[in-house]
Amino acid sequence: DWLSRGPAARLLAVLNAGPGEARPVGGAVRNALIGMAPGDIDIATSAVPEAVVSAVKAAGFKSVPTGITHGTVTVVVEGRGFEVTTLREDIETDGRRAVVRFGHDWKADASRRDFTVNAMSLTRDGVLHDYFGGEADLRAGRIRFIGDPIQRIREDRLRILRFFRFHATYAAGEPDAAALAACIAERQGLAELSRERLRMEIMKLVIAGRAGETLQVMADAGLLGPLIGGVPFCRDLSRLAEIERLMELPAEAPRRLAALAVLVREDADRLRDRLSLSNEEYRRLDGIGHGWHGLDPAHGELAAKAVLFAAGPRGYRDRALVAFARSGAPPDDTAWRQLATLAERWKAPAFPISGNDLVARGFTAGPELGAALAALRAAWIAADFPTSNSVISGLISQLTTGR
Ligand code: ATP
Ligand code: MG
Repeated sequence: DWLSRGPAARLLAVLNAGPGEARPVGGAVRNALIGMAPGDIDIATSAVPEAVVSAVKAAGFKSVPTGITHGTVTVVVEGRGFEVTTLREDIETDGRRAVVRFGHDWKADASRRDFTVNAMSLTRDGVLHDYFGGEADLRAGRIRFIGDPIQRIREDRLRILRFFRFHATYAAGEPDAAALAACIAERQGLAELSRERLRMEIMKLVIAGRAGETLQVMADAGLLGPLIGGVPFCRDLSRLAEIERLMELPAEAPRRLAALAVLVREDADRLRDRLSLSNEEYRRLDGIGHGWHGLDPAHGELAAKAVLFAAGPRGYRDRALVAFARSGAPPDDTAWRQLATLAERWKAPAFPISGNDLVARGFTAGPELGAALAALRAAWIAADFPTSNSVISGLISQLTTGR
């Protein structure tokens, strides 16, 4: 679809009319084979970066030389960015160190990629070039390294995490034994990775369909402690993923992380540091970690309404889903599901009493007024959020006569 029309197709047409052959490669091709929407559409070309820049300029597209030494030019077409990267190949120099240079060989470029499923490319007329059996692996739910896993991991330790990320997203069944053994053998290399690269892979890993099962494999292999620390609740994460799937809810990283690894604030703080979470991500994660306790259909709907009032619809749904997952109830449990969808049926009214209302009743501004307002809010919630003026006046009178 994106190959025949839209901005990617237009860019491919311009590049193929110009200085070399251009093909979509990697993730977009992999996803297209199984009917999944692409993340980014990456393009490889036999043209050198300077030729890419002038060809797209002539067509009126903006380009940014994002990694010109690596051969990458980002081209903007109709507001969307595409990375166009010149084919690369390794040339052996002294038998140990490889030097990268621009090449013309599609297979050599593919062989530098990490997994067979990530090494396919498509010509513009839709012919698949699959040099290492990627399509068969994809259909069999198998993530395999291209070449010797140990060697490929030593070239780039991030591939350990990428292996598990792609396994969690695309695989069925057990991880490839040779790959898993290599990941375990080379695990100390994870410590050398930059926080930024680590973060990107972990955030994608936790939102994968089989994140819980995959993280359990990693935990059993001793790989998880150094990455996120603490006690990982992989079973809870698996249940959350299944609940989200049944309820047709999107997977979101902070909620997944909360189910996986947050019980107390220290857990949230540790994840913030390890994964360089943004303030927004941290606040959401920490809020879930504190707020899910006590949410349970057995406690009645009013208790749930109180959480929804305090946390808002998104925060409430996060908390209810994590509580659901932690409860161990079956993912299709009706009572839990109703609890989790409360925000779709009920909207919390605004608290109808202000400080001025109390001043009108003889309160003076200050700590006493604040305490009275808090007590009134609690009484108002306990009375099931009344909105009628007479009921509200009654609540105020009760408080003021008891004074
Ligand atoms: P997604 O759909 O999640 O973006 P992707 O396959 O596009 O998945 P990217 O990280 O965007 O993954 O990388 C694009 C492509 O570049 C990969 O498909 C792979 O061919 C290659 N690649 C990326 N990172 C590496 C790496 N560390 N080692 C080898 N090849 C890599
Ligand atoms: Mg991508």
